[in-house]
Amino acid sequence: MFANDDRMICVSCGTQFDTPLAQAPKLCRMCMEPRQFIPPAGQQWTSLVEMQGKYKNRFEQDKENPHVWSIFSRPQMAIGQRAILVGTPAGNILWDCISYIDQETIDFIKSRGGLKAIAISHPHFYASHLVWAHEFDCPVYLASEDQEWLNSEDVEHRRIFVDAQEYEILPGANMVKLGGHFTGSSILHCHDTIFTGDTIGISLSGLNFDSHTDGEHQTFFFHYAFPNFVPLGPNAMLSMWERLEPWNFTTLHSLFFVTTVRHPDCKGLVLESMQRQARFMEHTEHALLQETWK
Ligand SMILES: [Zn+2]
Ligand SMILES: [Zn+2]
Repeated sequence: MFANDDRMICVSCGTQFDTPLAQAPKLCRMCMEPRQFIPPAGQQWTSLVEMQGKYKNRFEQDKENPHVWSIFSRPQMAIGQRAILVGTPAGNILWDCISYIDQETIDFIKSRGGLKAIAISHPHFYASHLVWAHEFDCPVYLASEDQEWLNSEDVEHRRIFVDAQEYEILPGANMVKLGGHFTGSSILHCHDTIFTGDTIGISLSGLNFDSHTDGEHQTFFFHYAFPNFVPLGPNAMLSMWERLEPWNFTTLHSLFFVTTVRHPDCKGLVLESMQRQARFMEHTEHALLQETWK
């Protein structure tokens, strides 16, 4: 099915729309929104049928957790985001979704047990999720708050809209809405690990955390517009923190293959980064600055 799918996909953001590629409009409504962008070369469109053979997905096993696999496309598609195959005792979840899918990808995931569910952090990862759901015959969990950003009709009734702030997708695997970037922006919590998409970003110094021992380097960042660098203010970050606070974790995987932070006090680093971001926004007495952890 995917190999004959001629529906248009935005090259810039990776979103698949129901419109055939031949009828693609000038502009993408996702890229026109202030949290995305139209690239310097202008808006370009492709489709799954056009992508076959020109792209390849890579499957990279996490170096410390053999149950976590990053899946991303080469050459780069959209902003280079990844989907993550998360293995749980009750089956696999695909956390977030990417546009490109081919037989090799299907065979790889099926060789590891297939998918019990797809869960998506926010609309920038909607990609071609209904195609994936069809191939793996599984549901797709999405935050109900953000459904205005859907761009394809769910003829097979694959979508399950999550209304609650927390929802257990499989035993021990919880989707938790933090908000911020989008109203329904979510993370996935599994045991000692969270998967954040771009609900929580990892700074460049955060990628080499051990080399920055002065306690002043920013590990994480919290943006309204991720690629356009519009930071969230302290009210939004405090709300995110209050929703995150009940969940313990020592590993945080963000949206790219290389963006992972492992630290015994990973959660404390999230709070510290929120507070530093607030201080540099010239807040000195906000309630977020009074929060403590441990
Ligand atoms: Zn787009
Ligand atoms: Zn985003």
